[in-house]
Amino acid sequence: MTRFDDRFVRSLPADPETDNVVRQVRGAAYSKVQPTPVSKPTMLAWVPEVAALLGLPEAPTDEWTTVLAGNALLPGMAPYAACYGGHQFGNWAGQLGDGRAITLGEVIAPDDSRWDLQLKGPGPTPYSRRADGRAVLRSSLRELVCSEAMFHLGVPTTRALALVATGDQVERDLLYDGNARFEPGAITTRVAPSFIRFGTFELPASRGDKELLQKLVDFTVTTFFPSLGAPSPETYVAFFSEVVRRTAVLMMEWQRVGFVHGVMNTDNLSILGLTIDYGPYGWLEGFDPGWTPNTTDLPGKRYAFGNQPQVAQWNLMCLANALFPLVGEAKPLEDALEGYADIAAAEQLSMMRKKLGLAGDDVKDRELMRDLFRALMSTETDMTLFYRLLARVPAASVSAPDDALVAPLAEAFYAPEQVKGDVLEGFAEWLRRYLQRAGPDDGSRAKVMNASNPLYVPRNYLAQTVIQAVEQGEPSMLAEWLTVLKRPYVEQPGMERWAKKRPEWARHQPGSSMLSCSS
Ligand code: AMP
Ligand code: MG
Repeated sequence: MTRFDDRFVRSLPADPETDNVVRQVRGAAYSKVQPTPVSKPTMLAWVPEVAALLGLPEAPTDEWTTVLAGNALLPGMAPYAACYGGHQFGNWAGQLGDGRAITLGEVIAPDDSRWDLQLKGPGPTPYSRRADGRAVLRSSLRELVCSEAMFHLGVPTTRALALVATGDQVERDLLYDGNARFEPGAITTRVAPSFIRFGTFELPASRGDKELLQKLVDFTVTTFFPSLGAPSPETYVAFFSEVVRRTAVLMMEWQRVGFVHGVMNTDNLSILGLTIDYGPYGWLEGFDPGWTPNTTDLPGKRYAFGNQPQVAQWNLMCLANALFPLVGEAKPLEDALEGYADIAAAEQLSMMRKKLGLAGDDVKDRELMRDLFRALMSTETDMTLFYRLLARVPAASVSAPDDALVAPLAEAFYAPEQVKGDVLEGFAEWLRRYLQRAGPDDGSRAKVMNASNPLYVPRNYLAQTVIQAVEQGEPSMLAEWLTVLKRPYVEQPGMERWAKKRPEWARHQPGSSMLSCSS
């Protein structure tokens, strides 16, 4: 019998209105709302490690399939949709809230840890605005796979327990070009200590509701940051500093693995420093700081790979503004925010040293890193494969001619015929400097590198292939992929197809290269 609690519900004010109609909700942290039942729930994926974490059965039961489809509640569940706002693409968007998510409750696990259990796509809530509160299979599958992949990569993230097909169709316009079609609907069950976002605090602050703001901050600090001490203006600053630190670390983790979130609005940034809200995200194939997977983001490329650290800092500034009324002075918050750049720079350097297998520190490492990025951009180079292949380049090849020196990296190049002349020389020159800095081979370099550079990441075209298979009633491919992604740093014989660089057919295909928010 699973135990449920809900500190969020117990500690914070509820919306007094209980009708499920779209509205502005003031003075409340959430609205009570029930999931809307679906026609024919089918469990498509169940993540046994997350089930174990929560003390649930190793395999899905009919009862859990029904509950995670939103067709039944278990005793102790008190479902609600949270109220929050956010800055979208740099502009204040006002109230947003859980428009397609309902938290069923807080599971008290056998080890007494606590986890919010949340359905994504369970039907309308008071925050659904003009949309339907549903999610399509393709985006639900992408969320489940990527959050689990991130966890196994060692990147802070929300988790996923299950993927349930609803048996209902959902209408979506994938590219917002007037070509709407019906697609199978699905619900992902997400699991995290909390889904509180930056935007949770921005909304009451924007409305001048200091009372609610204080309740939300005090709840967050005492529940999730107890070591910072009792709520006080100093504690709020310490809390903000800790969010700054965690967010900087998270941004460098995304850079390490090549993850592009795609919609880094302030309502999509977790107060716990977790990766949250997987939508039109993408994984870098060719290393390109200017790449964004989100078609909605194409005009300004605000959320491109290389911009993520700066955008996070801008989002933290929004959070600082929201906390300001409780702190009363700007200076301590500004100082904490200023620390972001130093934390991120230090994290980046130590992260890159691990990716390159460099021990100790050398004043020239930053330059080596910058020049590497330049070489990687001189021709389309698969970031993931590049680092794995680099680990195999022997120290002794430092004196080899250019083409022999660069040859072991060939598989990483999308257009190997372009790797000649200046491009070839650029790589060779960089490799020589790198091998000299790395020193003689003793096997430790490759070991350090392969522990930081994954071989298997959930590439966009692979997601597309798996989605098609599942839509055609063939879920075994999804199971295999999830298994491979559990050990992303270990070469798995027979699983080569999950590590291959993007084939040409996928270069411009919607879903494989570009995505929209239409999920
Ligand atoms: P996101 O793109 O996940 O950041 O969503 C932005 C806002 O739109 C959030 O308030 C979502 O809950 C809401 N939203 C997105 N898709 C839907 C949908 N299908 N139905 C209702 N609300 C949605
Ligand atoms: Mg969101």
